Amino acid sequence: MPKSNRSLAIDILAASQMIEEAQNRVFSLIGRMISSGTLPPSLLFTGPEGSGKELAAVGLAAKVNCIDPGGSADCSACAKVRRLEHPDVHLIYPVPYSDPDKSMPIVIESRRENFFNCGEFGNKARSIGIGSIRRIIETLSKQPYEGKRAVVILFEAHLATVEAQNAFLKLLEEPPPSAVLVLVTGFSDRLLPTILSRCQAIRFDPLPAGMVAGFLERFNSLERKEARRLALLAGGNVRRGMRLLDARFCEIRDDAVSLLGLVLDGKVKELVGESEAIAGRYTRDEVGELIEETTILLRDLMRVEDLSGEERKLIEKVFGAKRISAAAGRDIAADLRKIGRLGRALRRNVDIELTLSQLLLDLAGKWY
Ligand SMILES: [Zn+2]
Repeated sequence: MPKSNRSLAIDILAASQMIEEAQNRVFSLIGRMISSGTLPPSLLFTGPEGSGKELAAVGLAAKVNCIDPGGSADCSACAKVRRLEHPDVHLIYPVPYSDPDKSMPIVIESRRENFFNCGEFGNKARSIGIGSIRRIIETLSKQPYEGKRAVVILFEAHLATVEAQNAFLKLLEEPPPSAVLVLVTGFSDRLLPTILSRCQAIRFDPLPAGMVAGFLERFNSLERKEARRLALLAGGNVRRGMRLLDARFCEIRDDAVSLLGLVLDGKVKELVGESEAIAGRYTRDEVGELIEETTILLRDLMRVEDLSGEERKLIEKVFGAKRISAAAGRDIAADLRKIGRLGRALRRNVDIELTLSQLLLDLAGKWY
């Protein structure tokens, strides 16, 4: 395969091993719980995006089903988990409402190709519906097929409908004897309090830049210097590091830079034009990414004094000294709150163009 091929399959268990080493604080605890047989039946993996929660959940599924006495990830059980086809490891992803039975295998096949794939269904709304939960409950009522323990992983668990969450709650209340239930989400505040109180929360930290660089070097065959540059841009988010290799994502990021530049320059008329253009050519998910990128850039601007020399050079290159000093006069915390509100609104069915232009005008408002 050519060196630049980005759809290179990632060895999921090797990747999760890297995450575990970086998230040492939580994984030494989990390791002790597994070896002493005190792993709680339900866990909540939470923490910022790109901190390795999903990989770690799959890694955990391999660990509890590993049949190698030395615990190596080379046994046949681990190989099945690695290919996302272990019969006792049940992966539940949010899918479009219309046809979950058809959609779920599409997602799993796509993640097999590359665990970091996303956006299989364009901008269709996705959810974890009650049907998926009922099916799992039925499957779990039988004994594990060949593994030691059935593992259920709910990815993006915050997208489970209230109905689905209530059904899942019954499972949490009376988990089948050997099952391990793992909920993965960066937005645990959107889960029912009754669910939260029944799961042991495992909080992930943002990953160190050095680890993200090592990850990109290993799984994307990047040169060390380029991996290091992307890792600094990614800010502890390995998913974002991978996304930065994607041309479409880089366009989104460039748009975030130019929008923020217009905000900092107070160019109101241009902002209105730009937000119309963006609403026209972006999907809802992409607008979400644009908002996320804007947030990250603003955070960098806010802490520019605290950045390392290398990071500061990058941000100076992006914005220029004049805009950086303009940013120093702003209440960036207030800006971030406004953007956060838009991010939440986007997860409902708001009109993208209207909301985005309101936000940008609001941000630029201080300047005219
Ligand atoms: Zn194994």
